[in-house]
Amino acid sequence: MNLTYALATGVSAFNARKVAISACLLGEFCRYDGASKSDAAVIAAFENDEIIPFCPEAPVLGTPRQRISVVKKGDQRFVMGEQSGEDFTQAILAQVELLVQNHPDLDMIVLKSKSPSCGLGTTPIFNEKKEAIGFGDGIAAQKLKVSYPDIVITDEINLKESKC
Ligand code: SF4
Repeated sequence: MNLTYALATGVSAFNARKVAISACLLGEFCRYDGASKSDAAVIAAFENDEIIPFCPEAPVLGTPRQRISVVKKGDQRFVMGEQSGEDFTQAILAQVELLVQNHPDLDMIVLKSKSPSCGLGTTPIFNEKKEAIGFGDGIAAQKLKVSYPDIVITDEINLKESKC
């Protein structure tokens, strides 16, 4: 929020929340196919807040990039390149660590549903034979929940339902 807006509306810049949002929802062209998932309702919901765009995949794999998916091996989940079979788990998790280091004081996180990194309970999970075995959290979302245990972490679908 800029000062002019704050003075005009009476809304204090100091009341703004600090919200990390999946960058593709903000209109950044950071999806695997080079597209965005710009979401007007999400952008409007936080127009008076401090927004921290967050995309854990683009810095690791570039854009456009091969598709990745979450693969369950034993009790653990990994995020693997669908074509290469390469394991990107640690690199994606490192992006979350960077966010935590730079922004330990987030008030809220809004993630893109169904993504292998950002999905919250909506991400398809595969076994080692590439068979779909259910839905769960993306790799980054899983770590964000542990790293920010005390704040609301939601996705664009639930955000609309809760009218946050
Ligand atoms: S869903 Fe997450 S990882 Fe995928 S493009 Fe959007 S911000 Fe990046």
